[in-house]
Amino acid sequence: MNNISTILNKETLSQNDIVELLQTEGEDKSLLFKKSAEVKEKYVGNIVYYRGLVEFSNICGKNCYYCGIRSGNKNLERYNLSDTEILAAVTFAYKNKFASVVLQSGELANETFITRIEKLLHEIKKVSNNELGITLSLGEQTEETYLRWKEAGAHRYLLRIESSNPELYRKIHPNDGNHDFSTRLHCLELLRKTGYQVGTGIMIGLPFQTYNDLANDLLFMQEFDIAMCGMGPYIEHLDTPMFRHRHLLESREKRLDLALKMISILRIMMKDINIAAATALQAIDPMGREKAIKIGANILMPNITPGKYRNNYKLYDNKPCVDDEPEDCTQCLEARIAMTGNKIGYGQWGDSKHFLKKK
Ligand code: SAH
Ligand code: SF4
Repeated sequence: MNNISTILNKETLSQNDIVELLQTEGEDKSLLFKKSAEVKEKYVGNIVYYRGLVEFSNICGKNCYYCGIRSGNKNLERYNLSDTEILAAVTFAYKNKFASVVLQSGELANETFITRIEKLLHEIKKVSNNELGITLSLGEQTEETYLRWKEAGAHRYLLRIESSNPELYRKIHPNDGNHDFSTRLHCLELLRKTGYQVGTGIMIGLPFQTYNDLANDLLFMQEFDIAMCGMGPYIEHLDTPMFRHRHLLESREKRLDLALKMISILRIMMKDINIAAATALQAIDPMGREKAIKIGANILMPNITPGKYRNNYKLYDNKPCVDDEPEDCTQCLEARIAMTGNKIGYGQWGDSKHFLKKK
């Protein structure tokens, strides 16, 4: 047996093992991908669950160095969907048997925002006969807010750790007391405490990031025992402070390749969690998400934001499908998923098996 086969047969992976797997090429890489595809089929099945993604506002109080909608970027038009538009989008998801939606936006924490979300959650449950599952991705909030939203109907929450290395975290965020690693970690703990299915993730291919960092990110997810993961390649954005470090970046193809390996290794480490095929994969390669589904991902988040707003929710350059309407996406996706040998779990929540087992 070669070295990679030996690693792939281990019960638990060490940091060194993961670093080796991250550097596989050729036949070794095929072995890795074959293994994770088998694990996926065995533990979660070849089914892809949809989460209709509503990027309802690009107004953000934060200033993350990597993000195109950071508050410091004056080079874009800010928008905020009306409640009617949001409810129309989720109704589209419901009618098309998506079973779940994700509400995502820039981060705000004022009372008006909190109450608005609370009301919207009740409304979404109402227009969907109490059937739609709801994931939130609205950043750092207080325990009380997380609880209010949970009681109003949300049951999953995505908050990426971005990097589990506090030093790297500090480098990619302003040092203004508003972007602390410890707060991020604390919020993840609060989310778990309040009973959400908690998802986290990171950006892959960041400047200053090492293979050791990436290995530690996966070990962090395992240690935290997450229910879901959404991670994808970092993609530079012209109007952000981090753009000036672009000479440190690997090519986009390499970042995509690394992201696929991260997904594959995580599937092997955490066999029954939900792993999303992030949109950023598609920004690099039109087939990026399909490639991720083949080797381990089982969640897809079709964008159901009305087309006219999409151009202004640009976290990174090259964002795909900004000229499409939701109807275009569903048809296009169905054909793409069939090509991967997976089925779409229409009408099913597709909760994290890992989370359900723990309960
Ligand atoms: N404001 C919320 C949700 C929107 S941002 C939050 O920050 O949690 C959602 C995710 O987009 C972030 O967690 C980050 O990982 C990702 N993101 C931001 N800028 C990016 C970039 N330039 N390349 C890739 N992903 C990016
Ligand atoms: Fe705001 Fe989220 Fe972008 Fe940070 S990553 S600037 S919190 S939208």
